[in-house]
Amino acid sequence: MTKRNPDRRVLRGPTSDIFTRVATVARNLWWSWNPDAQRLFAALDPPLWEASGHNPLRVLELLSPERRETLAGDERFTALLADVEQQLAAYLGARTWLARRGTARQKRARIAYFCAEFALHESLPMYAGGLGVLAGDHLKSASDLGIPLVGVGLLYRNGYYRQELLVDGATRPVYPRHDFARLPIVDTGVAVDVPLARRNVKAKVWQATVGRVPLYLLDCDLPDNRPADRAITQRLYGGDQETRIAQEIVLGVGGVRALRALGYDITVFHLNEGHAAFCNVERLRHLLAARLSRKVALQRVRESSVFTTHTPVPAGHDRFPPALLLRYLGPMLADVDLPPEELLALGRENPADRKEPFCMTVLALRTSARCNGVSRLHGAVSREMWMRVYHARKPGDVPIGHITNGVHSETWLAPEIRPLYDKYLRPRWVGAGPEDDWWKRVDRIPLGELWSARRALRARLVQFVRQRLRYQLERRCEPASELLAALRTFDEDALTIGFARRFATYKRAPLIFSNPRRLAAILGDPSRPVQIVFAGKAHPADREGQALAQRIYRMARDAGFRGRVALIEDYDMHVGRVLTSGCDLWLNNPLRPQEASGTSGMKPPLHGGLNCSILDGWWPEAYDRRNGWAIPEHADAPSRTVQDRREAEALYDLLEGEIVPEFYRRDRRGLPLRWLARMQASLRTVCPVFNTHRMLSEYLELYVPENA
Ligand SMILES: *Cc1c(COP(=O)(O)O)cnc(C)c1O
Repeated sequence: MTKRNPDRRVLRGPTSDIFTRVATVARNLWWSWNPDAQRLFAALDPPLWEASGHNPLRVLELLSPERRETLAGDERFTALLADVEQQLAAYLGARTWLARRGTARQKRARIAYFCAEFALHESLPMYAGGLGVLAGDHLKSASDLGIPLVGVGLLYRNGYYRQELLVDGATRPVYPRHDFARLPIVDTGVAVDVPLARRNVKAKVWQATVGRVPLYLLDCDLPDNRPADRAITQRLYGGDQETRIAQEIVLGVGGVRALRALGYDITVFHLNEGHAAFCNVERLRHLLAARLSRKVALQRVRESSVFTTHTPVPAGHDRFPPALLLRYLGPMLADVDLPPEELLALGRENPADRKEPFCMTVLALRTSARCNGVSRLHGAVSREMWMRVYHARKPGDVPIGHITNGVHSETWLAPEIRPLYDKYLRPRWVGAGPEDDWWKRVDRIPLGELWSARRALRARLVQFVRQRLRYQLERRCEPASELLAALRTFDEDALTIGFARRFATYKRAPLIFSNPRRLAAILGDPSRPVQIVFAGKAHPADREGQALAQRIYRMARDAGFRGRVALIEDYDMHVGRVLTSGCDLWLNNPLRPQEASGTSGMKPPLHGGLNCSILDGWWPEAYDRRNGWAIPEHADAPSRTVQDRREAEALYDLLEGEIVPEFYRRDRRGLPLRWLARMQASLRTVCPVFNTHRMLSEYLELYVPENA
């Protein structure tokens, strides 16, 4: 983008010192989707790389003088460094898809993407779950495709909590304090004033660099601020309603001011989830202050805004008491022509109802001309859900469309399987566009090699599970007999099922334990063993969600499931990568239609993993009977309990009748031919479609409508 890039200074630093050069690579998060760059950081000091949570700047800081000396004289290391530097330069210099295929108007656009969380890598833990992963993957694809976009978010001092489970399985949230000097971010030198109630709060603007895309993160933990205000950006989704509204004002109002201060002339504002919707209040204020009429100002804001809603679950939509909202935003709007009732009306489904709380989703819908849900089904559910906002008589009249989510393929692709694809599919990652499809060549991969890759990834997962269980048991000071048992957990050749996502209640993590006897029989068959690995955190205040984690914790220790069920603590992007690449089958059993999209199920197919899911979220668009399984829904059941039980029985039926037999039916070479055919179908149908390159090309049409 046209703008002085504060990171240039760093990029041009002295090149004589190899560790300065490594740090330079570490400051562009491009490395988070480049396996050679990660190999380079690991080579600095493999145990430190693991112990630091894959944080290259931390490894550099802790590197011993002896190790530095060894590395400086290690030609393989310096050659790898030169190769990685060359790859980064080639990436940044490549002619992008947009440069080749974009229209003049698309190239002129300047898009700002606002989100409360971004998941770029486990070493920058500013995310809670799927929303953040989607936002991180959005930036990465925008960078790959050359879409002129900048991200705006918050920098949290303690990030999101780390989950430790106590001996009884109860959650103990741990909040690490992040030292920003060890994160891949630089100080832009810019700070903005954010009006909060009757006071001003300062927010400092940091920049992370994601390939070509800058991500600006606001931070209130400054000596100039009162202690209570310093805590605004302490925790992601922490604190009470006041903290929440303050955070959202810093994100929305502060974010717009930061972009102005940095010199951007933004043409499109994308509000990713309602958290960011105060962005449009600040823009409205700005136009009103320039003496535009309310009608024209609102029109301008609407035309330049895109809003994506992410959940049909009511608790997922922020609602603030009117008095709280007026207290926080009133003073900032005192000088412009936006009376309190008009402001409140923007956030109410029924503007005439003076008691109705102020809803951030409604604000975003009313101030954005282009709105979308995140799967075809979620689009339809959203149209029904928000009819009142539009005075619509039928859902079809509600102007909410859909763009189905995707994943950034290179981020989620296990390095171990890349050589196989390089050999047979010949992918061209750098400079590729959404229409490039190398997955259609999947038949060229010899079945024996495809199966070997699957087995190798599963074996790596099994080792990882044992290691993590051992660490968890040691931390809880459990007896040696438990440790020994942990080392025998899982079998490298057994059908491996994965379930990892936030432990929100509608996702029903423990559903498969509905009938423990029937499940134990499936898992415990000595000739056809099955094993399940779980991971997930609940929202820190969600007791019910934490109870689900506890239920699974107990099941994993139950005599009937010992060695066949494992729960990995502290689900993060690293755990996510190992699980989604290692499992044969990815299980998803939400209460339909509450899973707006879901993206974790798009990750296993990149490795030949198969989905077994309720037809919710993205799955109805992908499922074709050959590329996985659909769990029959029993929405007509007389109660939730009965529905849960029936859907669990339907899952057992599938496991017993199709999944387990197909996995274990082998030919003379030991290959499960029917299973492999499903793997091929999954690779061919899921990977080229359910990725963020395709998703971004669709968002581009919302950003720059060509026939507008
Ligand atoms: C992919 C991913 C998610 C999203 O999972 P859903 O199935 O969409 O809920 C959440 N957290 C992490 C760490 C992920 O990698």
